[in-house]
Amino acid sequence: MIYKTLGKTGLKVSIIGFGASPLGAEFGPVDPQESRRAVNYAIDHGINYFDVAPYYGRTLAETRLGEFLEGKRDKIILTSKACRYDITDFDYSAQRIIRSIEESLKRLRTDYVDLYQIHDVEYAKTEQVINEAIPAMLKLKQQGKVRLIGITGYPLTPLKEIAQTADVDTVLTYCRYNLMDTTMDDILTPVIRRKGIGLINASPLHMRVLTEKGAPHWHPAPEKVFKVAAQVAKLCRQHGTTISDLAMQFALAHRDVAITLVGTSKVRHVEANINIVGTQPDPDLLAQVLEMIKPVANICWKEGLPENDDPDAIDKRTLGMERNEDMQEEADR
Ligand code: NAD
Repeated sequence: MIYKTLGKTGLKVSIIGFGASPLGAEFGPVDPQESRRAVNYAIDHGINYFDVAPYYGRTLAETRLGEFLEGKRDKIILTSKACRYDITDFDYSAQRIIRSIEESLKRLRTDYVDLYQIHDVEYAKTEQVINEAIPAMLKLKQQGKVRLIGITGYPLTPLKEIAQTADVDTVLTYCRYNLMDTTMDDILTPVIRRKGIGLINASPLHMRVLTEKGAPHWHPAPEKVFKVAAQVAKLCRQHGTTISDLAMQFALAHRDVAITLVGTSKVRHVEANINIVGTQPDPDLLAQVLEMIKPVANICWKEGLPENDDPDAIDKRTLGMERNEDMQEEADR
């Protein structure tokens, strides 16, 4: 395993983080014994960073992770989140954050988390995050219930605005730096670099698009992205590798990212992701793949309040319509 320092925090983190959202069955049914083995395998092979949230499996992921980490808590860096509780259930008030940490600590069977994050800041007004949610998190920091505080989200604009103004230790963004989308570097990375904030890049597999299995049914990207990914997967196979290995190599090479956070509940995935650390992509294959992806690269969708939209973000309803049209075309053929 390779370790990096997380921004200015001094924490030494494994460059691969364990994303525990699949433990809450976010990507389909999960065998609890297999996911316990995956957590153990990760710890035994040097992964020290675990990310979870009450939202994942509507508390199921936290409950399972808490159970699996019993007796191992001191070996790892544990992070959870507040403010998002269901698809449309958000609460960024100080009161809820203070209640939320107690609930999470209980489920996680611990008395502190190393990092506590405001989950998906794009669903709040930026002023509320800066003036209410972050001060509440800082209070928890003073009380020792959380060691560090951070923000997470999909659109880069609010993450950038908050990171510029407020005192946060980390920023987590997802699906914005991988083979399909690299716009994190256009909007967010310069601020992160300037302020020495710890950068966490989640969803290096573009929420399963960049795998042999392909996207889950709820994935917001348009069908044309999935079609190109399937062609890339075939090309990778012909070159004796896999699309997920290439995607991990691409994401792990980013010099400003401290943690590449990949979601896993299976030992074979943890093993494959650990084995890729320290390896380089075949440059000819990577160049060919980036060329194939070009026509569908950097497509992003709207998430959160309209005032937090990124430039060029597409309405998910439009994407849904495009997908239906594509499916109709397919059926007509
Ligand atoms: P991801 O891109 O990491 O993809 C995860 C999917 O890929 C899972 O279905 C997993 O089984 C599969 N997979 C993992 N390794 C594989 C391999 N080697 N081969 C084939 N398939 C493999 O997407 P993600 O899980 O959404 O993101 C990673 C983590 O980041 C999450 O679990 C979560 O902890 C965090 N996250 C946070 C936010 C947020 O805070 N707003 C948003 C997204 C993700």
